[in-house]
Amino acid sequence: MSEEKASLHFIEQIIEDDLSNGFDPSKIRFRFPPEPNGFLHVGHLKAIALNFNLGQRYNAPVNLRFDDTNPVKESQEFVDAIKENIEWLGFSWDKECYASDYFQQLFDWALYLIKEGKAYVDSQDSETMAQQKGTPTQAGTNSPFRDRPTEENLQLFNEMKEGKHEEGTHVLRAKIDMTSPNMLLRDPVMYRILFKHHQRTADKWCIYPMYDWTHGESDYIEQVSHSLCTLEFKPHRDLYEWFLDQLPPSDALQPYQREFARLNLSYTVTSKRKLAQLVEEKHVYGWDDPRMPTISGMRRRGYPPKALINFVNTAGISKRENVIDVSLLEFCVREELNKTTARVMAVVNPVKLVITNYPEDQEEMLTAINNPEDESQGSRLLPFSKEIYIEGEDFKEEANRKFFRLTLGKEVRLKNAYIIKGESVIKDAEGNVLEIHCTYDADSKSGSGSEASMRKVKGTIHWVSVAHALEATVHNYDRLFSDESPDQHKEKSFLDFINPNSLSSQKAMVEPSLSDLTTGERVQFQRLGYYVVDKTSSSNQLVFNKTVGLRDSWSKKI
Ligand code: ATP
Ligand code: MG
Repeated sequence: MSEEKASLHFIEQIIEDDLSNGFDPSKIRFRFPPEPNGFLHVGHLKAIALNFNLGQRYNAPVNLRFDDTNPVKESQEFVDAIKENIEWLGFSWDKECYASDYFQQLFDWALYLIKEGKAYVDSQDSETMAQQKGTPTQAGTNSPFRDRPTEENLQLFNEMKEGKHEEGTHVLRAKIDMTSPNMLLRDPVMYRILFKHHQRTADKWCIYPMYDWTHGESDYIEQVSHSLCTLEFKPHRDLYEWFLDQLPPSDALQPYQREFARLNLSYTVTSKRKLAQLVEEKHVYGWDDPRMPTISGMRRRGYPPKALINFVNTAGISKRENVIDVSLLEFCVREELNKTTARVMAVVNPVKLVITNYPEDQEEMLTAINNPEDESQGSRLLPFSKEIYIEGEDFKEEANRKFFRLTLGKEVRLKNAYIIKGESVIKDAEGNVLEIHCTYDADSKSGSGSEASMRKVKGTIHWVSVAHALEATVHNYDRLFSDESPDQHKEKSFLDFINPNSLSSQKAMVEPSLSDLTTGERVQFQRLGYYVVDKTSSSNQLVFNKTVGLRDSWSKKI
């Protein structure tokens, strides 16, 4: 086996085997099939990347198929959000498909199955049918309607479609085997009556097909060759194949299903139902709340699409369930932001500092390099003046030798500017620092090449000029859940583990160049972390979300 082959994941290996067994490469086609009943989350990201990466690798089309067979929970809002998310990730689908577009074809095939003696209308209530299902170790029993004459089945099924029967009175079931060891093959329901408005087919239908009957047939209609889904669908595979085997004979390609492990992330829930609950019960501000593991939430948090894709690619495709540490995701985000963001000045806990020997009315524009990791990002001008803000944490009146920031009587460098020395401090009656007084060495300007500018001082701190600074609101986020596996506790709900301190906001002072930033632009606040402009930001009231700190600080906290 060549090295390249050895590094293939198991789905790629399956496709390679198909190809070497003569499968026509031009027939390869994939699909990503979300149900539009919520926003996509980090788990879906894995399925998206898997299918679209395979599409790229095999130069094969990938359909986006909305699995919209349950009108109760689905909506156009979710369809739109899903499309926007996939585009934002940088993937493009071939056809935009909807299972609901196949309702007529599915209905016609259902009639065919009835005629073939493979489906029947059952008129019992759901409890009775559930009792007849048996258990994994005990065979089920046949419904008294199982041998209903074909003509009667056809008539009833047509009447169901025409709205002549109430919800819950009849269902269409596949006639398979009530004794099968696979419970899913014990005459599964294919259609139920549901008088619900559908976002696409409106009130045309009052019977809706079930997932298993719809999914494989949709794959077949679209001629998807490799239908990839998560492991919980493994027991459905027999049913997927059984349904396809019952269709009218044809030369068309028969799709097949293969399963991969879900992505689970520590400190996170990845279930649309649970995420919907967080939104509906207002534990978060919406599906795109920056604390949410939704693609929209991570985008608003500042995670770049490339980092997300690197993350799922690094986590890999496996056959077995495991939990990926959320710190891997944060690592990928940090790595990408380090390469791409400009370093800017922002002070989140401002204290005023006056440089007493700096000329009263002087202002100068200093040159600051945008990103030392990437010369092509150039430099910008930064205004400097007699009064600046520095970070409250960067000053102590007296400190031990390990404190490399500003203290009285010691020198420190102002980033991109001068060396200053702490002289005195003005405090209020409670001892809070109101103003720090310093002197500066006029010859020590960064980059000037002078002897004083080369002088080594222990610390460098960031600052902004008081006269030029812009006020901004900064939102800081902590994990939404304080437990590693919030939804894996038998006696407690995941809601019991919500971290009450997951959001904190503060006022900050930032350098004036940031007024030009637009929603979604990302920067590094030097020494503080990576930040992104929030959608609520405007040029006179800037709002930033903290994306992630510069280093992994989580392990230190616990
Ligand atoms: P949820 O359980 O969150 O509602 P779902 O599986 O019902 O998810 P769908 O919209 O049906 O959501 O999923 C679309 C595709 O994404 C499916 O192929 C599904 O297998 C896949 N998928 C969903 N969750 C994950 C996950 N955590 N990891 C990997 N793939 C996932
Ligand atoms: Mg689903």
